[in-house]
Amino acid sequence: MKNSFLLTAITGCGLLPCGCSQPATDATPQRPNILFILSDDHSRAAISAYGGINAELAPTPNIDAIAQNGALFNNMICTNSISGPSRACMITGKYSTTNGFYQNEGGIVFDESQPTTPKILQANGYTTALFGKWHLFTTPSGFDYFMIHDNPGQQGTYWNPLFNTNGVKAVKKGYATNITADAALEWLDSQRDPNKPFCLMLHFKAPHRPWEPDTKYLDLFKDVEFPYPETFNDDYAGRELTLGQNMATIENHISRGDVKMPVPPEFDKEHAKKWLWYGGSGDNQYWTPDPLMSKEEVKKWKFQIYLKNYLRCIRSVDDNVGRVIGYLKQHGLYDNTLIIYMGDQGFFLGEHGLYDKRWMYEESLQMPCLVSYPAGIKAGTVIDKLGANIDIAPTLLDYAGIPIPEDIQGVSLRPLLEGKNVDDTWRKSVYYQYFEYPKWHRVQPHYGVRTDRYKLIHFYYNIDVWEFYDLEKDPNELKNEINNPQYRDVIATLKQELKRLQVQYDDDLPLEKRRELTDRYMIDYEE
Ligand code: CA
Repeated sequence: MKNSFLLTAITGCGLLPCGCSQPATDATPQRPNILFILSDDHSRAAISAYGGINAELAPTPNIDAIAQNGALFNNMICTNSISGPSRACMITGKYSTTNGFYQNEGGIVFDESQPTTPKILQANGYTTALFGKWHLFTTPSGFDYFMIHDNPGQQGTYWNPLFNTNGVKAVKKGYATNITADAALEWLDSQRDPNKPFCLMLHFKAPHRPWEPDTKYLDLFKDVEFPYPETFNDDYAGRELTLGQNMATIENHISRGDVKMPVPPEFDKEHAKKWLWYGGSGDNQYWTPDPLMSKEEVKKWKFQIYLKNYLRCIRSVDDNVGRVIGYLKQHGLYDNTLIIYMGDQGFFLGEHGLYDKRWMYEESLQMPCLVSYPAGIKAGTVIDKLGANIDIAPTLLDYAGIPIPEDIQGVSLRPLLEGKNVDDTWRKSVYYQYFEYPKWHRVQPHYGVRTDRYKLIHFYYNIDVWEFYDLEKDPNELKNEINNPQYRDVIATLKQELKRLQVQYDDDLPLEKRRELTDRYMIDYEE
C-alpha cells in the first residue's frame, strides 16, 4: 500500500466487499449519488475552465461550472493514453498490465471476471447504470441498466447509432450525444430504484473522430479563425526517431472524410490541396479549386476545419452536461451527488502539428478532470498534485463508504478534494506505459515517469531512445535534454524512480518480454 492515509480509509479485510463488510442499507443518507461523465478524446485545451487559446472563442460553461462549484485537477495523468485501456484503468483502479486490457487493437478484450467499481458499488447497495461508449469489447457487467454503442469495435457513430440496451440491439434515430443524455435522464426519472443511491456513468462518444457535429451547430464558428498553437510548426528536432515518425499530423493525415469533402468527379489526391472548402453547412459543404494555396495554407485550412468540427461536437456535450446536472438540481439530487467530468485521455489540437493521443507528451498525457460535491468539496478548489486515472475507482469507493480493495493500485483523491494536507504522503511521480504498435499512426511503444517538474521517457520497441524534459523550463517539450550534462544527476534519479515504480506496479519486465506484449496483438497496416 502506497499512502498511509489510504490505510486509515480501509476498514475490515479490504478485499472484495462481499462477505467482509455489511452492505450499507439502501438510501443511507450520507452515501452520495455518483454521476461520472466521460467524454472521448476531450482535450483540456477545449475546456474553458482550463483556459488556453480556445477558451474565449469556444467556452464550455456547463462543464466549467462543475469546477467553479467544486474542484479542478491540473495534473490528472492518463497512465496509458488510449481509449479502452484508460477506461479499464478507471474502473479497475489498476495499471493496464495488471488489469490486462493494455491496447485497443488486435482482438484483446477486457477480462470481465475481475472486480470493477460498478460491480462493487452494485454489490454494496448502489443502483448502477451506463449510457454511451463502453469500448472494452464485452457486454458490461456490474450495471442494473446499460445502453452502449454496439457497432463493430464499439466505437459508436454520431448519427442514428446502434445501441445495445440491456442485451437488446436497436438503432436509435438522431444524434448520439443527445440520445445518450436523453436515455440517462429517462433512467434517472423513471427507471432507477429511488430507494438506493445511484452511480450513473454517462460516457459520450463525442468528440472522437470523425468529428460530426449536430446539424444545429454546423455554422458555429463559421467566421472565426482559431489561433494556432505555439508548437503548430514543430520541426521535431531532437525527436526525429519518435515524434518525427508519427503519422497523425494535421498536414498529412487529416483526410477527405475528416474535412467533410464530397468527392467531386475530377478529384484525386494530388489535387486535394488545390481544393478550398468555403463555408456552407450540411449538404451545402463543398470545395472549390484554389491553385494558389500554399502548403502552409493547406495545413492551416485543415486545422481550422478539424478544430471547428471538434469544438462543435463539444458544444453538444456541454449542452447535455447542463441538461443532466440541471435535472439533478431540479429534483433535489445535486447537493448529495458526486459529479466527475473527465476525458478518457488527452488529445492534440494542433500542438506539435498533431491530432490524436497515445504519446506521453503533455497534451495527450493530461486528462481533464472536474469534480463537484457540494456536501463535501469547497467551491473553487484547485488541485496541482499528481492524480491518475487509476485513482478513479478508489475515489468512488471511498466516497461511497466502501472499503478499498487492497490490490487496487490507485489511491483515493478524496483527501485532495477535501483540501487535506497530504504533502508528506502523496505520490511524487506517476508511471506511464503504452504498447499499441504500429496501429495507429506508428507511435513507438514507450514507458516513462512524470514528476511535478520532469519527464523521462524510454521508447524501446524497435528503437532505443530516451527523452528527458524539464517542464518548468520547457513546458512545450521542444528540447530533449537527455544528453545535457547539467541534468545528469536528475536523470539518474529519475531512472531509479522509474525502476521503483515498475517494481511497485509489477511491471518490471525485461525489454524482450515487454516487446512481446506488443507483438501478441500486432497487426500490420499501411497508412
Ligand atoms: Ca479516447
